[in-house]
Amino acid sequence: MIQADLHIHTTYSFDSTIQPKTLVEKLVAHSFIKVAAVTDHDTVKGCGVTRQLASAYPDILIIPGVEISTPQGDIVVLGTEEMPPKPWTVEGVVDFAHDRDCVSVVAHPYREYGLGDLAIDYKFDAIEVLNGDSSPSANKLAQDLAKLMGLPGVAGSDAHQPSKLCTAYTEVQASLDIDEILKALKKGLVAVHSIGRSIHF
Ligand SMILES: [Zn+2]
Repeated sequence: MIQADLHIHTTYSFDSTIQPKTLVEKLVAHSFIKVAAVTDHDTVKGCGVTRQLASAYPDILIIPGVEISTPQGDIVVLGTEEMPPKPWTVEGVVDFAHDRDCVSVVAHPYREYGLGDLAIDYKFDAIEVLNGDSSPSANKLAQDLAKLMGLPGVAGSDAHQPSKLCTAYTEVQASLDIDEILKALKKGLVAVHSIGRSIHF
């Protein structure tokens, strides 16, 4: 069993103040969250740098990823060190993830830049049902969407500043191994948590 914050922005995102080094130090110091996905806006540079720094610590793991801005809404792809080809359509990004055994996640579906009900028309692997930056009502709607689509729900802080790191996380029935974690996410071997509450699927 591992605990992972699956949605984090580093300074390689235009709107984040989290240095890759700060994220690595946070995981090293954290008592149980030892895994994080770096999901910068439209770039995979940040996860490459963070993985390099994290490689010095055998008990932490950085999952490479990216948050792609499509015209319809944001999509998080977990498990990629490559960018999907442009133009970034919802279908194109979902297919890109599927072809590479990555995990496609509908990011904060009911917030600004969220896909909302449009997500139903595509073959996503998971729904972000707990986003640390979304309101409880927006997260509740996302949980309803996951149930409707029969998809696993995942959680991440969506941190853009150090104080927000690890405020929401996904518990995954897997060991400290990227492939194992990605497979377990697709199978729904997950539970989501934030401070003060937890939801099991
Ligand atoms: Zn984000």
